[in-house]
Amino acid sequence: MIKENIASLNIPSHVKLVAVTKTRTVEEIKKAIEAGIECIGENKIQEAKQKFPFLPDVEKHMVGHLQTNKVKLAVKLFDMIQSVDSVKLAEEIDKRCEAINKVMPILVEINIGNEENKQGIKFGDAKGFISGISQLKNIDIQGLMCIAPFIPLEETRPYFRKMKELFDSFSNLKWLSMGMSNDYKVAIEEGSNMVRIGTAVFGERKYL
Ligand SMILES: *Cc1c(COP(=O)(O)O)cnc(C)c1O
Repeated sequence: MIKENIASLNIPSHVKLVAVTKTRTVEEIKKAIEAGIECIGENKIQEAKQKFPFLPDVEKHMVGHLQTNKVKLAVKLFDMIQSVDSVKLAEEIDKRCEAINKVMPILVEINIGNEENKQGIKFGDAKGFISGISQLKNIDIQGLMCIAPFIPLEETRPYFRKMKELFDSFSNLKWLSMGMSNDYKVAIEEGSNMVRIGTAVFGERKYL
């Protein structure tokens, strides 16, 4: 199933696929890797810590909200942190990476729908935020990430478009991480080059 699911996603070759593996077992993740997945995303440190030792070599991204007291562990576990949403968090990642001689690729999470229940920097604050953290030597700001509001699919398009405009206003960013199982096609049409997909790869999530 996982293999067929991945094949039917039809992701263009310029778009990087991050298979979001939260709640999935090591066995399921191994199957996805065998089927060609090269990059996975987790949203909880504890879960990542438990599963990662049992996985074959694969690129690992943190996509969920990260508390500063978990950063020390996070910088060892992950190859990218997509969910940087405060100066305090950026500084803590920088500090913990300096201690282990690592430069962490990060994305800045933007609260594109300006929603109270979502993490992320306000759209209008993005420029200032990025210039404010750009002097930190042990983080490498590689792009932007967002989760679109949970609204009818076609209504998400303007949000993705705004993200693309913001992304293009920086000359040095590489990744625009937007699009999940339900909206990745629209996100790609609007310029996403990194999609984070869980359900459409593994099936519906069962939360315990
Ligand atoms: C769970 C999750 C996804 C994937 O969601 P699906 O709808 O299962 O594709 C993408 N991004 C983040 C940040 C997530 O937490």
